[in-house]
Amino acid sequence: MRVGVCADDLIVHVRIGHFPCFIFISMNKPVSAGQSNKHPQTKQMRRKPNEDSHYADPEFSAELIAWQKQHGRHRLPWQNTGDAYRVWLSEIMLQQTQVTAVIPYYLRFLEKFPSVQDLAAAPVEEVMALWAGLGYYTRARNLHQCAKQVVAQYQGIFPSDPSLLNALPGIGRSTAAAVAAFSYGTIAAILDGNVKRVFARVFGIDAYPGIKSVEDDLWLRAEALLPQTEIAAYTQGLMDLGATLCTRSKPDCARCPFQHRCVAFAEGRTAELPVRKPKSKQKEKQTIMLLLEHDGAVLLEQRSMTGIWGGLLSLPELDGMTELEVMSSDKSDSNRIFEQISATDQTRATDIVNRFGDIQSLNRLAPFTHTFTHFKLHIHVIHFIISRRFEFVGEDNLRWTDLEQVEQLALPAPVKILLQTLSSRLI
Ligand code: SF4
Repeated sequence: MRVGVCADDLIVHVRIGHFPCFIFISMNKPVSAGQSNKHPQTKQMRRKPNEDSHYADPEFSAELIAWQKQHGRHRLPWQNTGDAYRVWLSEIMLQQTQVTAVIPYYLRFLEKFPSVQDLAAAPVEEVMALWAGLGYYTRARNLHQCAKQVVAQYQGIFPSDPSLLNALPGIGRSTAAAVAAFSYGTIAAILDGNVKRVFARVFGIDAYPGIKSVEDDLWLRAEALLPQTEIAAYTQGLMDLGATLCTRSKPDCARCPFQHRCVAFAEGRTAELPVRKPKSKQKEKQTIMLLLEHDGAVLLEQRSMTGIWGGLLSLPELDGMTELEVMSSDKSDSNRIFEQISATDQTRATDIVNRFGDIQSLNRLAPFTHTFTHFKLHIHVIHFIISRRFEFVGEDNLRWTDLEQVEQLALPAPVKILLQTLSSRLI
């Protein structure tokens, strides 16, 4: 057993069986703002070896560490610091954002808020303003919340235990591991999008990494592949490889340290892996809209606040089921169009038309489709020409509106296009 003492902490080196271990005893000395900080929680430094996992592969980390030292990135502004505040700030900014975009923001933030205490004390508006342009603004709110919590709960010192970091606002499991590894040398696994891509290609994982069971298995693999030492170089190596060589498109396999063992490279499947998200079949819905037109005006209805197009003005819609296939084969016969609407729809259509005017003619317009994120809406329109318009007085969401006003109204996009087309024909 060997005992080493540093300024703030006592580090005891022991061997258990064949494995070297470090027992870290903090003297729990207070750390001032902006000072490189060490934290008393050090469970991960006593991490057990992982040779029992069938994913264990010590050569993987050895090769990656050697490559990172020689070819990886070493001069990024947030590197070569043990300051958890700086590491955390950079890791949050780097989520879904390129290094080149992050650098000026990172430097500006540090200038304005040199310590976590400065950031915590700032008004949230100031933080948001400084973040403007970096995107994913929830990150900025969480950043501010997290700073406040670290000051209030941990006296401004970020914990070294990834599970404690993971409990703070905006810090996911992978970010927690990265912050702990870079700041304190905690041996913990990262698994961000880049790492998933590298693993999927190197190990030939033939399943979409977003599936829970696949992701759980990737975490097991990430844990099993961890080195016993040099966690910062290993973690940086994974990040560097994913960002510089094993890129989403056109990976630079010729320069890759894993080419000799990469399944995707060997099988010529780098473009196929990782497996893309399976496309879910888009749902399709139908609706029938009533377009009542009289002398340059149309009848519009205020939609309820819930559901699609909540609160917008739109054409009145029918709710019941209708024989749309039959309708689509018969565009001209007015009586038949009305007959082919279901009883429920007939009642609503008749009610609206009788309250607001006398029908001169009706015609079915060519159907069209509007695509939402999760479904397609097929829109069928019955166009009524009204010979005599009634001004309905009562509690109602329906009202006559001049087509000239269409441009200024908050209307669903497809309805606006339809009414603009109608308006242009009347000019
Ligand atoms: S050999 Fe190519 S595909 Fe495989 S890990 Fe390296 S860069 Fe990625």
